[in-house]
Amino acid sequence: MDYTAYKTLRNNIDQLSEKLEKQHQKHMKCKAGCDLCCMDYSIFPIEFHNIVEALKERKDKPTFNTDKDEASCIFLNNHKCEIYADRPIICRTHGLPLLYMNEDNGWELSACELNFTEFDMEEFTEENTFPQDKFNSKLYLLNKEFIAKNKLTDYGEFDLIPIKELAKHI
Ligand code: SF4
Repeated sequence: MDYTAYKTLRNNIDQLSEKLEKQHQKHMKCKAGCDLCCMDYSIFPIEFHNIVEALKERKDKPTFNTDKDEASCIFLNNHKCEIYADRPIICRTHGLPLLYMNEDNGWELSACELNFTEFDMEEFTEENTFPQDKFNSKLYLLNKEFIAKNKLTDYGEFDLIPIKELAKHI
């Protein structure tokens, strides 16, 4: 399966995330060992299959943490992500100020509760926030194409798979 376009999107997201992280350095408390954002997210099949393939190639297989509660991510071990290099897109913007449109077509901003505690919300602009909808739309379209191209008829275009399902495939 070809993941070139997906990986390009992922790189673009990483670059923008890095830029925003530097820009907001003073207001972000994100650091190694903090796992407040790590949950059992649900991801598109394109991401799911990309992770399956990436982990199959890895010599050091990840350890699954199944002792935790249902909502926790199975790849979180001792406060560290076991699949950091291959983690899905949702995990690549943790902590950043995310700008998105809510169900009432109004703009909303979301950021980790530990960050931006002394930041004036009025200072958030299009230039210093992460445009979540723009990247989500691109991911949605790539996923739709991926399902069609690979004839993955079990999936609908809006279907998401919980990360914990990866344990059955690796
Ligand atoms: S994949 Fe890694 S970064 Fe994402 S929620 Fe799980 S442990 Fe956290």
